Amino acid sequence: MKETFAKKPQQGESWDVIIIGSGPAALTSAIYTTRGAASTLIIGGEVWGGQLMLTTTVDNFPGFPQGILGPKLMGEMRAQAERFGAEFLGENATDVDFSKKPFEVIAAGKVYLGKSIIIATGAETKWLDVPGLKKLIGRGVSSCAPCDAAFFKDKKVVVVGGGDSAMEEAVTLTKYATEVTIIHRRDEFRASAAMQQKVKENPKIKILWNTEVTEVIGEQKLEKLKLKSNYDNSTSEFPVDGLFVAIGHVPSTQIFGGKIELDEKGYVKRFWDEKIGGYKTATNVQGVFVSGDVHDYQYKQAVTAAGFGCMAAMDAIKYLGELKD
Ligand code: NAP
Repeated sequence: MKETFAKKPQQGESWDVIIIGSGPAALTSAIYTTRGAASTLIIGGEVWGGQLMLTTTVDNFPGFPQGILGPKLMGEMRAQAERFGAEFLGENATDVDFSKKPFEVIAAGKVYLGKSIIIATGAETKWLDVPGLKKLIGRGVSSCAPCDAAFFKDKKVVVVGGGDSAMEEAVTLTKYATEVTIIHRRDEFRASAAMQQKVKENPKIKILWNTEVTEVIGEQKLEKLKLKSNYDNSTSEFPVDGLFVAIGHVPSTQIFGGKIELDEKGYVKRFWDEKIGGYKTATNVQGVFVSGDVHDYQYKQAVTAAGFGCMAAMDAIKYLGELKD
């Protein structure tokens, strides 16, 4: 049953909040903005739901002791947002204009007006571009140790990468796996000294320097990796149960370039400024807020994205209240 607290704007009027994105951050924002009586449009994309639509069982989202399938969890979040009157548009946002108020978001050639905006477009995992990998995602290949480490109890796993994420993934995996091998293409890590030390002190972690994965092999599940040495170009095979790819993420900020401040890696920058209301999810444009993995490269979890979604919604509602004063 629908319980709508805000009137849908008529043609030419503005939405109180336009949310761009449709993962846990976006949908949590919508649950809060609609319940805060703000008319809310979610521009959710042609392919909606974010990274959880590509996973199987999610065991680390609170409230589901037996786990829940990723797409089912996203369907429930969307239904919850729609129950309170959020309007969902299954189109891609292709452009924005944040230089005028109301703000403009373009999707499928139409202009949508918003008094405030929440950017929640997320980030995509960077996968290795090697044969065999894509078909084994979820069947031994993963990009999230906190989500999947428990499936590799007493197994042998590999982590690819040399940054903080790879170090963190490797340490997390040692709680379950018997052996964790970090494979890195160079002879030094770019991770922080503290993270490197944790890895080097852990007896379960081995490191293969100057090595690249060139093929991922397995029928129903991952069986082995083909490796190439960057010392002498020699090749070898490496039998393994799990492959964790930790070579970074790409934030989905292509349409925001030049429109909002991004950091050097393309993530949206947050500006926590007491002078403009102390909004923790503010961007450099007043009235435009951000939540989830599109600004958070550290935690990258569904539950933290949802938490940021709640914060951005509460900030947007406070901002809308101040507009009326
Ligand atoms: P990152 O720092 O960009 O590191 C990516 C790693 O993957 C690099 O070592 C890179 O190798 C390797 N790599 C990239 N493309 C590759 C390819 N095609 N094949 C093989 N290796 C490849 O990414 P990240 O580790 O995800 O970290 C992203 C940001 O989040 C960083 O600023 C990091 O400090 C931060 N972070 C912080 C924490 C924390 O504070 N707890 C935890 C996680 C992440 P090269 O070194 O050769 O370029």
